[in-house]
Amino acid sequence: MTQPVFRFAPSPNGRLHLGHAYSALENARLAADLGGRLVLRIEDIDTTRCREDLVAAMLDDLAWLGMPFEPAPLRQSTRFPAYAAAAARLRARGLLYPCICSRREIADAVAAREAATGAPVPRDPDGAPLYPRSCRARDPAAVLAEGRPVAWRLAMDAALVAAPGPHAYARFDDGGAHAPVVADPARWGDAVIVRKEIATSYHLAVVVDDAAQGVTHVVRGTDLEAATDLHVLLQRLLDLPTPLYRHHRLVRDAAGEKLAKSLGSTPLAELRAAGWTPEDVRAAVRDAGAGAR
Ligand code: GLU
Repeated sequence: MTQPVFRFAPSPNGRLHLGHAYSALENARLAADLGGRLVLRIEDIDTTRCREDLVAAMLDDLAWLGMPFEPAPLRQSTRFPAYAAAAARLRARGLLYPCICSRREIADAVAAREAATGAPVPRDPDGAPLYPRSCRARDPAAVLAEGRPVAWRLAMDAALVAAPGPHAYARFDDGGAHAPVVADPARWGDAVIVRKEIATSYHLAVVVDDAAQGVTHVVRGTDLEAATDLHVLLQRLLDLPTPLYRHHRLVRDAAGEKLAKSLGSTPLAELRAAGWTPEDVRAAVRDAGAGAR
């Protein structure tokens, strides 16, 4: 059997807080229990929000916490060629189409549709209305010829023909046992796969890099649970393996019950400055995570 590979994949667009510490420590705990390796990935594709000083501060916080990462973290900002290659594969199969709609245009199209049908446009799992597919109905060459910034969206209908369901992944528990979870990627509609201002999206980058790093076990918060449905589809379309998943409760959800209200989002640096030790952090998140699934 191959050795399990776990990863912690923070975005350096702010200081790490207790919620991050919980996720990192859960990865470390499960990796140790299952005899796995633990790798770090710096998710810095958003160059407008991710800053070098925040990367350095993040690495410092993780070292202070005593995280047993393997050397040489993967930086997503070095990986744009790999994302471009993956997008090109999808595009070559007719699974992506260009979209120039602004937020305003999408909101107007949604409002017009709702007025015409008298029914709300379905929402994606993040609560945003599904893209009304205005650009899907157009000739891609004509869309590109407008010369406006372009996002590339997944043609969900074509994607589900190319990779028919049912879609599923396996959730793993503490002992390493698996339970099947049904995935419904269609609830994301024609999701943006390559953003206008960044030559990838979180969804594309995460599936490409989980495969590149040989990740077998993904441990992350329930805020990303619904995204897994889309990731499973992208893995199928790109011939990438689907890791096992586990989505843990968010410390901020538990904060009201187990921690002082604001503590879940208090930067680790502030706690350090106030005299907390790594063991205090471990104890606090252990308490907050009790009852996590
Ligand atoms: N970079 C994401 C975050 O910090 C996590 C991505 C993932 O675990 O898949 O929320």
